[in-house]
Amino acid sequence: MEYIKLIKEMPEIHCARGPKRCEECRKALKNKSFCLIKVYLEPGDITRPITEVYVGCRRIVGEYDVVKKFKTKEDAKKYAINHGIEIVFD
Ligand SMILES: [Zn+2]
Repeated sequence: MEYIKLIKEMPEIHCARGPKRCEECRKALKNKSFCLIKVYLEPGDITRPITEVYVGCRRIVGEYDVVKKFKTKEDAKKYAINHGIEIVFD
């Protein structure tokens, strides 16, 4: 399946119930960290969380998987430079 890889600050995910129904999910949303994510360009068979990204001027809303989590912003930046991956700052 086609996907793009980029680094973005993502909220933590607690469970599938989501922030509307789960108190722990609401708390987890506040814990953000930079992550290397794969955003899929078409919907898949399994339900994944969804994120919105911009590639150039193209807006993509797609399912994503977290590939790698970075401890600090600096770690994320280094990885982006070393691997030629786009990093998104809000
Ligand atoms: Zn939860």
